[in-house]
Amino acid sequence: MFIYFNGRIVSSDECVVSPLDHGFLYGHGLFETMRAYGGRIFRLEDHLGRLEDSAGTLNWPVLPAREELSKAIDKVLQINNLPEASVRLTLSRGIGASRPDAASCGQPTVAVYASLLPQPLPPAGWSSATVKLRRNLSSPLVSIKSANYLDNMLARAEARQLGAHEAIMLNTNGSVAEGSMSNIFLVAAGRLITPHEMSGILPGITRRVVIELAHSADIPVEEREVEVEELAGADEIFLTSSIMEVIPVTVLDGRPVGAQPVPGAVTLRLARLYRELANRE
Ligand code: PLP
Repeated sequence: MFIYFNGRIVSSDECVVSPLDHGFLYGHGLFETMRAYGGRIFRLEDHLGRLEDSAGTLNWPVLPAREELSKAIDKVLQINNLPEASVRLTLSRGIGASRPDAASCGQPTVAVYASLLPQPLPPAGWSSATVKLRRNLSSPLVSIKSANYLDNMLARAEARQLGAHEAIMLNTNGSVAEGSMSNIFLVAAGRLITPHEMSGILPGITRRVVIELAHSADIPVEEREVEVEELAGADEIFLTSSIMEVIPVTVLDGRPVGAQPVPGAVTLRLARLYRELANRE
């Protein structure tokens, strides 16, 4: 596999990250995961824009130019011959002092790699479990794609122990936040409901596209605080992520979502509209 690493295309075993890189020392890094359709990244500008916002939150003084990053992504897709792929762009803060002093760091370390897409979803959809670990409303980290995903990993491990594919996390106020690697939507009485951006969530690119698609399909959308009790009463639940697109959740906490544990009509419609748009753009 060929990887873009600090300005060059190299094989994966040629990439070396210094032990003094603050990504390695302190988890001080950022990333984006994107999906390529027919050799092109869907909503690339949105991903690069979110990366810049995240870098701003962490006060990074420098970031490679958008043009350089998009060329790097194109090259990696071409050289690995992966027109349909999952792409990960990772940046760490770079080499600095062996103390948490970001001002001592030089250029960020930058890597891009592409891999085959994960297996298709099980036809019945995913099961999910509400976990104990909470999204911290007072931390700016929950709304950026930082390389420190330990809470997310622990939440997913908790869900797996409960026999579920994905975790549903609440926030520190007890309202619904998001999945460990996805945003969450509910369908109730024909309305699409999703936690608003101040709920301790990552502002997902797929979430925004799904909201736009719902508006144009005349499906009413509510972005607001979502109470945990609403999950149990929902007709449909689905998750969104750039890699997995629209993921029906058919079982929540061991019980079927809606009347039967099958993907709902609104979920399937939005999943179809999303795929059509991603293939078209
Ligand atoms: N929330 C979290 C915590 C995530 O890690 C992800 C994606 O990895 C998402 C939401 C979905 O974001 P996007 O739609 O931009 O892929």
